[in-house]
Amino acid sequence: MDTVEKLTTCYRKLMGSVPEGIWFAPGRVNLIGEHTDYNDGFVLPFALEQRALVAAGHRDDDLIVMHAMDLSETVELPLSNLNPGGGGWAAYLAGVLWALREAGHQVGAVNLVLTSDVPLGAGLSSSAAIECAVMAAACDLFGLEIAPMERARLAQRAENAYVGAPTGLLDQAASTLCHAGHGLFMDCRTLETAEVPLPLREQGVEILVLDTRTPHSHVDGEYGERRATCEQAAAILGIRALRDVTNLDAALARLPDERMRKRVRHVVTENDRTRAALELAVKGNLAGIASLLNESHASMRDDYEITVPTIDLAVETALAQGALGARMTGGGFGGCIIAWCPTGRAEHIGSAIRDAFEKAGFLDPSWFTAVPSEGAGRLK
Ligand code: ADP
Ligand code: MG
Repeated sequence: MDTVEKLTTCYRKLMGSVPEGIWFAPGRVNLIGEHTDYNDGFVLPFALEQRALVAAGHRDDDLIVMHAMDLSETVELPLSNLNPGGGGWAAYLAGVLWALREAGHQVGAVNLVLTSDVPLGAGLSSSAAIECAVMAAACDLFGLEIAPMERARLAQRAENAYVGAPTGLLDQAASTLCHAGHGLFMDCRTLETAEVPLPLREQGVEILVLDTRTPHSHVDGEYGERRATCEQAAAILGIRALRDVTNLDAALARLPDERMRKRVRHVVTENDRTRAALELAVKGNLAGIASLLNESHASMRDDYEITVPTIDLAVETALAQGALGARMTGGGFGGCIIAWCPTGRAEHIGSAIRDAFEKAGFLDPSWFTAVPSEGAGRLK
C-alpha cells in the first residue's frame, strides 16, 4: 500500500468518512545564506521531495481532531478555546488554525490525519512541513484566499506564538513558495523573492544531504548569543541591521573586539555569497556555486564558530572524495551538511563519510540525494 492509500485508510477508520482531500508541504534545505535571516539579509533554500501529507475534512462540531499516523496518536482540541503553549506535535497543527483565526479568518471544525517522511529534528524543517500542509488544507477547505507569503507568515506565527519556538520565516516560506527544479532567493527585509533555476541533472550535479546525527547541545544559548552580538554591532555602526553594511573594512575598523569583527565578517560576506549564488544560477553557471559553498563553510567554521567536529569531518571527507563544494546547512552545532557532487558520486561520498565517522567513533550518519521540489499544495 502506498502512503496516500495508507493515509486515506487511516482517515476512514478513525473519522468514519473519506477525506475531502489530501494536501502536502515539503521539508527544505538551505543552499546558502546562514544566520543572515535575522540580520535582514538573504537566504536561498529549496524544497525537498520529502514532505508531509495531511488528509482533511470538515466536522460539524467544535473540535479539531488530529491524528499523527507515524506516532499512532490522536489529540482532540476545542476549536473555540485554543491556548498557545500546549506542546507536543499537535501544537504545530492546532497552532496553524489558531493563527488563522487570530488573523480574522473563518476556520471551522476539522479532522486532520498526518504523515511525513521529512526526518524529524534534523534541521530539514519537518515542523514547517506539517504546518504548511495544514495551512494548505485549511485554506482550501474553508475557501480562504491568502497569498503564499502571508500563508508562510501565519504558519511562522503558529510556530513562534503557539508552539513557542522562535524561528525565522525561512522554513515556512521555502515550504510554501518553492517550485520544482528551483531554489527560492529571499530578501528577509522586504520579503521579496526570486526563483532560482537549479537544473541539477542538466549540469551534471547531485546534491548530497547528510545528517551527522550530532546530538545538539547549548544550541539555543549559542544562537541567542550570536544574534545579540549582531544587534550590538549594528547599533555601534548606527545601522538598522548588518545587511546595511556597505564597506566591510570600514565597518570592521569601528568595532571594539575581534570576536564581534569575526561575527560581522561572516554575516556580511555570507550575504554577498548568497547574492552571488543567485546571479550565477540566473546566468546558468551552477558550477560556480560550489566554491561559494566552500567559502560559506570556512566562514561558519572560522568566523561564526558554529561548526562542530562531526560537521567539519563530513565536509572535509566530502571534498576529499570528489565533491566540488560542501558546507554545513542550518543553524549549526550539528545537523546536516550539503555537498555539491558530480552526478553519480553522491552515494559514494555518503558511504565514505560513514566510514570516516566509524573510524572517528561518531554515530552513523544518514543521507539522501536532494531533489529541488514543489512547495505546498493539494495532492488530490
Ligand atoms: P525540524 O523542523 O528541524 O525537523 P523541529 O524541532 O522544529 O525540528 O520540529 C520537529 C517536531 O515537529 C517534532 O518534535 C514533532 O513534534 C513535529 N513533527 C514533525 N514531523 C512529524 C510527524 N511526522 N508526526 C508528528 N509530529 C511531527
Ligand atoms: Mg523546525
